[in-house]
Amino acid sequence: MSRLARRKLRPGKLADVVVRRLAWFLLGLAVVFAPRPTEAGKARTKKTPAKSRHACLTRLDSLRVSFRPAAPRKGIQVPVEVTGPLGGVTYRTWGRRALVLDCSLVYSLAMAGRYLGEAGITEAFFSSSYQRRNVRGTDRPSRHSYGLALDIHEFKGKNIGRLTIQDDYEQGLGDDVDCIGEPLSRGGAILRILYCRMIRSKLFRFILSPDYDEDHYNHFHVEALPWNERPDLSIRPPPAPEVAPSQGSPPAVGSASPSGGEESGAR
Ligand SMILES: [Zn+2]
Repeated sequence: MSRLARRKLRPGKLADVVVRRLAWFLLGLAVVFAPRPTEAGKARTKKTPAKSRHACLTRLDSLRVSFRPAAPRKGIQVPVEVTGPLGGVTYRTWGRRALVLDCSLVYSLAMAGRYLGEAGITEAFFSSSYQRRNVRGTDRPSRHSYGLALDIHEFKGKNIGRLTIQDDYEQGLGDDVDCIGEPLSRGGAILRILYCRMIRSKLFRFILSPDYDEDHYNHFHVEALPWNERPDLSIRPPPAPEVAPSQGSPPAVGSASPSGGEESGAR
């Protein structure tokens, strides 16, 4: 027997109680099943302080580089995944590996695109990019470990065909006064002029070629400084070239020696 029945309530009073309890029940249901605020709704109402964008990323924006910030990777200060051409040059590798580098090197490659473009290059093929390893024969981490180095083996372009560092780069050219020297072949001239212009641009810490040691017989090791150590950011854009590679005698450029007292071994 129910409590209502035990109290022997009058029929009118009983109806009031039933209605009131039903109202409370419905109100409870409404609270339980009410739609919860969405994340977007929370974001609209909750004020979060705007995180300032890294200066290097802002530079990439201004150069219209196609990229996205990458997930954190050990050793890389500002990880960036390249998703399009850099300075007009498409970087490819064997397999389907994404190109993830430190933003500083991406900036250098984007800025150097003009030198590659003027050499007739539209594609570059690389092997080692970001890779946690030591300089060969040492216990010191390679700059590849920081996403600051890229090993480039081949270049392609509609008017130049395919040029490889292994087959087309001519060793022993140039000196401290005349970087280019006297290449014997058209491919050799294109690669040497490109090398000298990239060295002179100050966009890179250095570029190691087959002249450096036998570990680099088939690639350019292209390396940038970390963003906060770059001395070149106040002198952009770089000066226009004196002579395009296809227009007769190549421009004279400065020393091609890698700076920084670098050691031997694959980098
Ligand atoms: Zn390397």
